[in-house]
Amino acid sequence: MKKQFIVIGLGRFGSSLTQTLVEGGHEVLAVDKDIDLVQNLASTATHVIQADATDEGVLRELGAGNFQHAIVAIGENLQSSILITLLLKEMNIPKVTVKAKNVIYGNVLAKIGADQVVFPERDMGIRLGRQLSSENIIDYIELSTDYNLVEMNAQATMNGYSIIELDVRAKYGLNIMAIKSGNDVNISPKAEDIIKAGDILLLIGSNQEIRALERNYD
Ligand code: ADP
Repeated sequence: MKKQFIVIGLGRFGSSLTQTLVEGGHEVLAVDKDIDLVQNLASTATHVIQADATDEGVLRELGAGNFQHAIVAIGENLQSSILITLLLKEMNIPKVTVKAKNVIYGNVLAKIGADQVVFPERDMGIRLGRQLSSENIIDYIELSTDYNLVEMNAQATMNGYSIIELDVRAKYGLNIMAIKSGNDVNISPKAEDIIKAGDILLLIGSNQEIRALERNYD
């Protein structure tokens, strides 16, 4: 479904977010006070405006209140982030996501009404750290603070075992949701399905459980 977003701040984060949303088929109004950044994005099929979003009149003129979702992507200037978030919430935008430089900024922004606070640098650091600390983890999605959906290389020592022989559910509390073998994806693996070295497993479980499985087959 096509959605309408307003993105304020077109630094590295805001501009890549805008481009990705446009590629995803959504309508985006992108705003920055820096004309060079506005011109850089002008070729994307979106509306790009040079304006200072701390000015309430400007936001009203842009019709900011009609958007379903606003993203405030200003890293350094907390004062501007606070003011813009307050103005956008006063305009009754249902969802306002704000980028924060650190947890202290994030707490302030959540207190004054941001619906979602994101910490791109912190999250990317954690993500990369997890990938680098395990040779087998290809990618993961955090489902909650405890549980992750993990894409993992089947270890060589798993070769030839069926799911029931590995017994990951009973031994580790993990669920194998899918097995990717070359171009084939088995999206409802059965107990007797065999895992081969080089397969990619899609697992749900806690970090601890996933690490325990990895260690056991090292
Ligand atoms: P990144 O780390 O993603 O590059 P920055 O914090 O460097 O993010 O970029 C923030 C962007 O927000 C800058 O391009 C800046 O011009 C823009 N910006 C800051 N304050 C305002 C404002 N009041 N109105 C519009 N754009 C703003």
